[in-house]
This record gives sequence, structure tokens and C-alpha cells, in this order.
Amino acid sequence: MISPLLRPALFIDRDGTLIEEVDHCCDPAHVRVYPGAAEELNRARTMGWANIIITNQSGIGRGYFTEEQFQSVQEEVYRQLGHTIDAAYMSPDLPGSGSSRRKPAPGMILEAAAEHGIDLSRSFMIGDKDIDIKCGASAGVRTILVETGYGRDYSDCRPDFRVPSVTEAIRTALAHA
Ligand SMILES: [Mg+2]
Repeated sequence: MISPLLRPALFIDRDGTLIEEVDHCCDPAHVRVYPGAAEELNRARTMGWANIIITNQSGIGRGYFTEEQFQSVQEEVYRQLGHTIDAAYMSPDLPGSGSSRRKPAPGMILEAAAEHGIDLSRSFMIGDKDIDIKCGASAGVRTILVETGYGRDYSDCRPDFRVPSVTEAIRTALAHA
């Protein structure tokens, strides 16, 4: 049953999906949001969807950059996206750490769903890696692989949809709501 109290969400990976892939991006000057993303996110929002970033940032766990640097990058991402993002969940954990939050684990999506009143059955996870697709599938949302970032390297993962860009991914999600 669809609960009128819960709303659907677009859970979206950041690096290589919303912004151009830069290895361990830690400088706001390197942030380049993909064209059209802000407009589609705004459309989703006016239709009642929550827009939530789900991002692994092991560069923090590795000591490459600080959480403050991550936040300064986030501020620039929010600015370039026209402040259409409702929340962001970040895991600083290292690969192999057994983290329940780091993708492919579904922890961050489940946390976000509980905190923002999200109906997972109507939601989507959008990303450029197999870990994004596994994370979404484990959380019980539909999945969309984009071909930006590392997306073309993952020909063998099994998303529900495969599209060229985040703009197309958001259109696909809204069309299958
Ligand atoms: Mg990515």
C-alpha cells in the first residue's frame, strides 16, 4: 500500500554521476555539475520527490582530505545545483572495513529513508558504479546506471535501467514513478 505520509526519493551518487569524476575531489574549484541536472532535480522536487546524495568518500578515511574540505566541495555542488538537494549522506569508511554504511552496503539509504520519511518502494538509486547498483538493490529501491564517470566500465552489472546521463536518469525515474 502506498502511504500518503511517505514520499519517493532520488538517491544519487555524487562523483561521476552528478559532477564530473575527479579522483577524490576535495577542491570546490574542481566541481563541474553535469548540464541539465539542476533543472531535472528541481522538476523532481516540484513533483514531491526528495533529492538525496549518497556518497562514499574514503579519501577522508585515507587521510587524503578532511571532512571540512568535503563540506566545502558540497557547498559548491549545492550552489551549482541551484539548492535542489534535500540532504547528503557520506561514508568516510575504507573499502574492506566491514562498514554497514559504505556502498555497496545499504546503510546510508536506510538511514536517509528513516530520517526523511521515504517510501523505498517508489524510490530510485542512480550511480555510475556497480556498488551504487548493489547498494540500491539491497535497500529495495530501483536502480539506474549512468554512463558518465565510470559507468561504461560496468557492462556486467544489472541495473533496472541504463542511461547516458543523470539528466536522463532522473527523467526515467519520474516517468516510472
Ligand atoms: Mg561515482
